Formats: sequence, structure tokens, C-alpha cells
Amino acid sequence: MFDIAIRLLEKITSYGYKAYMVGGYPRDLYLKRTYTDIDICTDATPMELHQIFSEVVTTNSEYGTVTIVFEKNKFEITTFRKEFKYKDYRRPEKIEYVNTLEEDIKRRDFTINTLCIDKDGNQLDLIGAKQDLDNKLIRTVTNPKISLKDDALRILRAIRFATTLNFTLEPKLKTYIRKYGHLLKKISKDRKKEELDLIFSSPNKAYGIELLNSLKLSDYLEIPNLKKAKITPSMIVTWSQLDALDKYNFNAIEKESIRKINEVKDKDLLDNHILYNYGLYICTMAAELNGIDKQKINEKYATIPIKRRLDIAITPVEICQLLNKEAGSFLKRVLTDLENKILNGNLNNNKEDLTQYIINNYKEA
Ligand code: ATP
Ligand code: MG
Repeated sequence: MFDIAIRLLEKITSYGYKAYMVGGYPRDLYLKRTYTDIDICTDATPMELHQIFSEVVTTNSEYGTVTIVFEKNKFEITTFRKEFKYKDYRRPEKIEYVNTLEEDIKRRDFTINTLCIDKDGNQLDLIGAKQDLDNKLIRTVTNPKISLKDDALRILRAIRFATTLNFTLEPKLKTYIRKYGHLLKKISKDRKKEELDLIFSSPNKAYGIELLNSLKLSDYLEIPNLKKAKITPSMIVTWSQLDALDKYNFNAIEKESIRKINEVKDKDLLDNHILYNYGLYICTMAAELNGIDKQKINEKYATIPIKRRLDIAITPVEICQLLNKEAGSFLKRVLTDLENKILNGNLNNNKEDLTQYIINNYKEA
């Protein structure tokens, strides 16, 4: 990935432009952490990037960002810019392309995200990123009083980076997070959820949640229950305690999981019927909440005689043939009865026993 990024920088610079890796990748490389995507910054405009790369995927020219696929890898390339007059505490009203990396660095959120790497693999540390990385400190590039007001999402990003990197928030930044926490109400729910997801899925989430609570942000985030949430490993278990289904946008799987975890959390998770009806995933998630060892749930689940309706050793077609009947509503009744008897251990799940049981109980004279 590094070599590919270097070749990408070489390509852009061969056209006479400047280009650097910036943000998360140089930061995580310096910290020897695993990284995801690589962000590039350059003085080439989106139009000029279009001319250099035929494989441009998407472009958001309004903000000067172009996403390209280069040697099968995706890169976000952002033109050096400065931003003016933030509206809604989130989006700059106007951006202006600038010529130097120095100016571009100034509009970024935190010092730790300003380390750059050039086409020769050299690190460029213009404003002391490495010092703050060494000191494990989250510090805004400009005065936090201005930075957080310009873009209140930075409040959550600060806590997200503190959590995932296990860093400290610089005291002045903390002060202004407390002061401007209310501005979070103005930020788009989806961007907030992205950051909260990252906090809630971090192995260091206890620290992140502690920060959110001690900085009094849970009310502004409309998740007051965060104050009493039990800290468990899964993101979805954290969300399930926050009564947030009508406050944030969740995908269908998340919604169903949250609903079911809440339904089952006070039930006996080692009961065959519960394990069968809710499945292993939901039961292990609920186990985090009521303190049952997940291994126990796994072991018990492995012993249940059927895991889904398809596992019943006789098919609906066979039942119809046996009873000389067309498929109809009676089938559901028979299958539910079989399920219950099998799960209770009152009926063996083999074709012979099931056939006999159906004849004895359902065959009309
Ligand atoms: P990640 O590891 O999550 O990718 P990242 O630091 O790369 O972390 P991105 O959201 O990918 O974060 O953003 C890339 C860079 O753009 C950041 O490092 C930062 O320099 C800048 N940036 C992103 N969001 C903001 C913001 N809200 N305000 C100022 N600068 C930002
Ligand atoms: Mg990134």
C-alpha cells in the first residue's frame, strides 16, 4: 500500500504538482498502528486531477475532493484549501484553493493529523505533530475556541481519536468541549453516528464513554442513558442501551438486533426455546448485558436439537402427504407443535418418531 501511494505521489508530481500523504495514514504509520485508507493532499485542482487520472471514481468538487482508484486501491485526493465562514457549525460556506501545504495544514482538525509523507517517503512535520503523537495529546491546530465553533463535529472527532489511540485531550480543548458541547445538536446525525460507532466499537470504549459523560455530552447527543450504560465489548450492545432507534439512523440489521436484544435481555438465555427463537448472535449479545459467560451460551446452543425450522426431520410436503391434505394453515400449527416438543425434549427429531407422532395426533379417523 505504501509503495502504491508513493507511485501515486510520483505520478502527480511528475505533472509539476505537489502531493503528499496526510492525515490518518502517516499518523498511524508513525504510531505503528494498522491503517485503513490513505488520504492525499495536492495543489492540483479536481479538474487537473481529472486530466491526470482517467480512472476518477467520484468527485466532490465543491469541497475539492476527488476519489480515485490507482493500482486497485482507493485514494481520496483533496486539493490544498482554506475554508471560510462555517455555516451550521459544520460546513464551510466557501472554500478557496491555496498553493501551499502550510496553508492547507492550518484548516485541519488536530495536530496529530497533520503529519505528511512526500514522494520520497520523507516525513514532513510542519506544526509539531510528532511531539503531540509522542506525548499522546489531542490538540486542535488552531485555538480550540475557534476550531470547535467552526466545526462542532471536531468535538466528537477529538473524543474518537482520544479513544481509539488512547490519547489525552489537551486541557484547553477539554474546556471548550464543555463550553461548546451544545453545538453538537446542530450536527448531522449521520456524521455523529459514524464517530459514535467508532467510539463504541473501540476496545478502549470505556475511556471514550467516560469522556462523553464527564464532558456532559450525552444529553446533547440525545443519549442520556449513556450515563448508566453497561460497558461491554460490542458496539450494538452499547447502542441497545441508549434508546436511540428514533434518534439516529440505523441499518436494518442494527435495528433488528437492537430490538431483539432488548426483547430477550431479561429472559433465560440458556433456555432452548429462547436460543432457538432468537439465535446465537442475539443471545450472545444479550449475554453481555446480563453477565452470562458467552462460552456457556455457545455450548448450550450447540446442544439444541434443532436450530431452524428446516432442521425438523420431516418436511411440510411430507406432512401433507402423510395426512392426505393440501397445504394449509394447519401446517403452521403442526410445525409449531413439533418445534415445541422437540425443543422440550419430548420428541426425538428423527423421521420415524415424527411420522408416528403426526399419525397419532393429527390423522383424522
Ligand atoms: P481515520 O483513521 O479515521 O481515517 P483520519 O485522520 O484519516 O482518520 P479522515 O476523516 O479520513 O480522518 O480525514 C482525513 C484528514 O482530513 C484528517 O486527518 C484531518 O487532517 C482532515 N479532517 C477530517 N475531518 C476534518 C474536520 N472535521 N475538520 C478539519 N479537518 C478534518
Ligand atoms: Mg482517513
